[in-house]
Amino acid sequence: MSKVIAIGPYSDSDAAALKRDFDALRLPGLAAIADLPEDQRRAVRAVAFMGHDPFGGATMDLLPGLKAIANFGVGYDAIDVAAATARGIRVTNTPEVLNDDVADLAVAMWIAQARDFEIAIRNARSGDWGRGVRLPLARKASGRRVGVLGLGRIGREIADRLAGFKCEIHYQSRSRKDTPAGWTYHADPVDLARAVDDLIVAVVGGPETEGFVSAEVLAALGPDGVIVNISRGSVIDEEALIGALQSGAIRAAALDVFRGEPQIDPRLLALPNILPLPHIGSATVETRAAMGALQRANLRAILAGQDPETPVN
Ligand code: NAP
Repeated sequence: MSKVIAIGPYSDSDAAALKRDFDALRLPGLAAIADLPEDQRRAVRAVAFMGHDPFGGATMDLLPGLKAIANFGVGYDAIDVAAATARGIRVTNTPEVLNDDVADLAVAMWIAQARDFEIAIRNARSGDWGRGVRLPLARKASGRRVGVLGLGRIGREIADRLAGFKCEIHYQSRSRKDTPAGWTYHADPVDLARAVDDLIVAVVGGPETEGFVSAEVLAALGPDGVIVNISRGSVIDEEALIGALQSGAIRAAALDVFRGEPQIDPRLLALPNILPLPHIGSATVETRAAMGALQRANLRAILAGQDPETPVN
């Protein structure tokens, strides 16, 4: 009987590896655990988890022999880690291996909004260019003052890339970091927003950062400002963001993550000044393969009674 349950939309190669290495039982979602026969639930020792549905104590209790939840992804805000710890369940994630992809995407989104890619692409595709329709001028990206909210692993990669674009780097974290000379630390998100032209959000999701990007932060960014979010939808007060984009309190937003995703608030989608992406931060063949390998290494370690490579608890 399978000791490992695999939940989520794995690639064919990851699904095959989970089957080969652990004889894993694929389930479509957490809700399907309750439908398993009791002897099968009792046999389960680990869950290979990919997804954003809340994984709480009640679900863990359906698997009384559970020893590990190996998350596919660095953000584990969907998993109730305190509930897992209280039950002696190890939680792991897949940090570092996705930094480059997510940072690349953040910078691409930032440039796309500065240079008004969507309007320009429409102009070319529609034949408007050929008909002589002129575009309004966009904005220069290089050299802008950019704030990184959350200078963690991904935030640092974003800031390093922006330095290559001759940007003035500002950041907010809970404590000052060891950075190249000239980067400016701000303890408060509003102070950060006030000091910069654009803001890139790279802080963790979860209850502690809920609504961190508030109406006040957006107002401080100002009417020329662009906000890019690659962290979690919960970090931005989405009502305030919609209001700010509608009124012109900020110029534009580029969002890879949303509250209630994969559904996107229709008011956001109706706005011409957002660039929406369907949470593709780490979605490359190379990075997803590395994330899968790390997830399986963590599973293997815990099932063998060893410490995992990248523990959360
Ligand atoms: P990380 O290294 O842990 O950095 C997280 C940042 O969040 C740090 O700057 C940290 O602040 C800050 N932070 C943590 N807890 C906080 C709190 N309670 N209050 C205020 N700030 C807090 O994480 P990472 O690897 O860079 O990943 C960051 C996030 O990106 C993930 O959690 C995930 O949600 C998101 N992500 C998204 C995608 C995507 O596909 N779009 C892909 C990967 C990751 P300090 O600097 O003060 O420690």
